[in-house]
Amino acid sequence: MANILIVEDEKTISNLLQAALKVSHYNAVSAKNVAEAETIICSHCPDVILLDLGLPDGDGLNLIRTVRKWSQVPIIVVSARMQQGDKVKALDMGADDYITKPFGIQELLARIRTAIRHLRNAGTQDEEILRDGLLRMGSLVIDYNLRRVYVEGKDVQLTQNEYKIVALLGKHAGKVLTYDFLRQNIWGPNTSGDNQILRVNMANIRRKIE
Ligand code: CA
Repeated sequence: MANILIVEDEKTISNLLQAALKVSHYNAVSAKNVAEAETIICSHCPDVILLDLGLPDGDGLNLIRTVRKWSQVPIIVVSARMQQGDKVKALDMGADDYITKPFGIQELLARIRTAIRHLRNAGTQDEEILRDGLLRMGSLVIDYNLRRVYVEGKDVQLTQNEYKIVALLGKHAGKVLTYDFLRQNIWGPNTSGDNQILRVNMANIRRKIE
């Protein structure tokens, strides 16, 4: 089940989207402004972001710029802005798609499916994870829905941050990841350059899952 973040300040639209996504078997979470969205992107690692541009505490375009510094999560702009200029700006800043309000829900769902398809082709483990929420590597199983990690069927009781690190490493299994990449994906783009906490977490994870 893919996680979709809806960033939208109009409650009726947000509720409509949430209902439509749930019917289509997506997990939907919502944020009503830029600040909330940034927090949820860091804590929930959504698979797709639906983004309104006119938000009460800032411009959605700036959110695209911030997110793109550290994440390749697909962003679909859902906006009432019709001007060609805004569309071009959003796409240039790294949005993957742009749909103008009012929109048909079927069209939006089709675009979400396309975004998820692209994710699958990007070479991460997302396809396997999206099938049933589980990633299996030998005796290690990561459950992305329950946010738990099992070794030989036993829950290894990770802390939240430890889980986030293992979940991220799992998604990029087989690839070399830098400390910067890990730190920014787990604690957000504004963390300090200190890797000490990450090292401590890694040591604890190694001890727990051997
Ligand atoms: Ca708005």
